[in-house]
Amino acid sequence: MDAEETPRPASHERETPPAVRNVGAVAVHADHTVARVRSALAHAFARAGLDTPALDARVLLQHALGCDHAALAADPDRRLTAAEAERVAAFAARRLRREPVAYIVGEKEFFGLPLRVTDATLAPRPETETLVEAALAAVAARGARERPLRLADLGTGSGAILLALLRALPQARGIGIDISAAAIAVARDNAARLALAARAVFAVGDFTAPLAGGYDLVVSNPPYVETRRIPALPPEVREHEPRHALDGGPDGLAFYRRLAADAARIVAPDGHVAVEIGAGQVEAVTAIFAAWGWEPAGPAKADLAGIPRALVVRRR
Ligand code: GLN
Repeated sequence: MDAEETPRPASHERETPPAVRNVGAVAVHADHTVARVRSALAHAFARAGLDTPALDARVLLQHALGCDHAALAADPDRRLTAAEAERVAAFAARRLRREPVAYIVGEKEFFGLPLRVTDATLAPRPETETLVEAALAAVAARGARERPLRLADLGTGSGAILLALLRALPQARGIGIDISAAAIAVARDNAARLALAARAVFAVGDFTAPLAGGYDLVVSNPPYVETRRIPALPPEVREHEPRHALDGGPDGLAFYRRLAADAARIVAPDGHVAVEIGAGQVEAVTAIFAAWGWEPAGPAKADLAGIPRALVVRRR
């Protein structure tokens, strides 16, 4: 993990952030050095109350200059060209309007995979890597890592979860479903870039509806935010990320109910369902699955902030 970042609960699970202050634009001039611009950005981002100002400054500067961390650090006294200064200023202005860094750079790393992201999909979150780990552990416990498993990812977004699983499970094939055609286009693009397209298909559809039966592993990071909490989400999330990927209905649990009710139909007899859950939802989600005859395969796996984040269930 980067030293500029610390694990913390998912954004909406913390206190409501301080109101956005209007901090205006950052003055970036051609002829300013890399070090000076980097520090100006970090200070402006900190004043604006961003969570990880130094990290954001560095990543946006790298993107504007087309260089990596090492190159940036190696030459702090290099002066920006006019075009570079313009790009940096534009990126900084977007970030100060609370656009997520992942959308500005168009990319986010997830489980070691470089993924394309657009505002049609959630920016993959580190806590969702916990879901991938939990799903892989369930497969390993069945001794099935090398088997030709059939996977399904409901609400696949950028394809992050499915593609990470396919990379780790060399014989598996999978389908990713999403209600958004724009998201499906992003997921297909990611599968092609990662050379996983031969084992991944993507379809526009409503959650479990397009699926027939026989899936060995059904995974989902469904929308799980309670509708009334959406206005309290950080501006990055509530103003820039797709609302339909966040809104889990009045109690946040609508999609777990749908999945639990349909699981017997779509999951193979010895298959698993692995879901990401929000803070405080583990008991409610466990109970929803239990009511349909599904039991936890083990304790919910905690994310880096210690919050139970991934629940894997199987038939009782
Ligand atoms: N964890 C997301 C957030 O921080 C919510 C994702 C979801 O609803 N699945 O807002």
